[in-house]
Amino acid sequence: MLKTALVTGAARGIGLATTKLFLEAGWQVAMIDRDLPELDSSAADLEKAEHFACDVSIPDEVAATVAQVQKRFGRIDALVNNAGVADFGPIEETTFDRWRRVMSTNLDGVFLMSQETIPALKETKGAIVNIASISGLRASTLRVAYGTSKAAVIQLTKQQAAELGEYGIRCNCVCPGPVRTKLAMAVHSQEIIDAYHDAIPLNRYGTEREIAEVIVFLCSDKASYVTGQIVAADGGFESTGVGLP
Ligand code: NAD
Repeated sequence: MLKTALVTGAARGIGLATTKLFLEAGWQVAMIDRDLPELDSSAADLEKAEHFACDVSIPDEVAATVAQVQKRFGRIDALVNNAGVADFGPIEETTFDRWRRVMSTNLDGVFLMSQETIPALKETKGAIVNIASISGLRASTLRVAYGTSKAAVIQLTKQQAAELGEYGIRCNCVCPGPVRTKLAMAVHSQEIIDAYHDAIPLNRYGTEREIAEVIVFLCSDKASYVTGQIVAADGGFESTGVGLP
């Protein structure tokens, strides 16, 4: 029986690249996203992938979707909590609605998807990979909601690893540096792009594929003794101590 990965935010960007890499590695994939039209078109030519419309911030939708995935595939070997939204602005201009919008997807979504999937992961001794960000490692102006949500995901990963190790479930976190996806390019001005190029030792943005490689490795048996780790895939940015642009 093929291994099954459940990838959230799979309609585009890092989630879609991760889906494709899992398929290349011989897994089957449950692609989850709330954007059904984009999900439909992204999944159209992918064999061994099924897609499920679901908003990861809504408890009933998450429970129903994980049950559907279990029914369809019969097993879940990896959960990639990748769905995320960005927000950019000073604390005094961040309304409570904006704050909640970020927290509900970036943090509540990771909690809810994990909670629903853990029973299936116990059966397979599977893996969870949560996608945070370098914004969760470094504070900066203008990222109060996004950065706080991602710092919480980093801590949630450590809690999961501590608690679920006894079931053989490994839990790790990937912190991407900047990647030219819809999410990033909606908030990165030319000034920010130039500043990142200067600040990153590799002097460039990453690609979706480069982040996906780390995610799929952490889900694979090659990482069988790796858990509780926070892995920055960021061209060396975090190692420099330079502040976020
Ligand atoms: P993206 O906008 O290209 O893709 C995100 C996907 O998540 C979209 O398809 C969107 O519809 C989906 N999504 C959003 N909210 C959802 C919800 N509530 N329920 C279900 N699906 C939902 O973004 P991306 O850059 O590929 O981001 C993927 C992850 O990587 C995010 O968690 C993001 O915070 C993180 N990240 C991205 C960057 C970057 O520079 N692109 C850097 C660091 C971290």
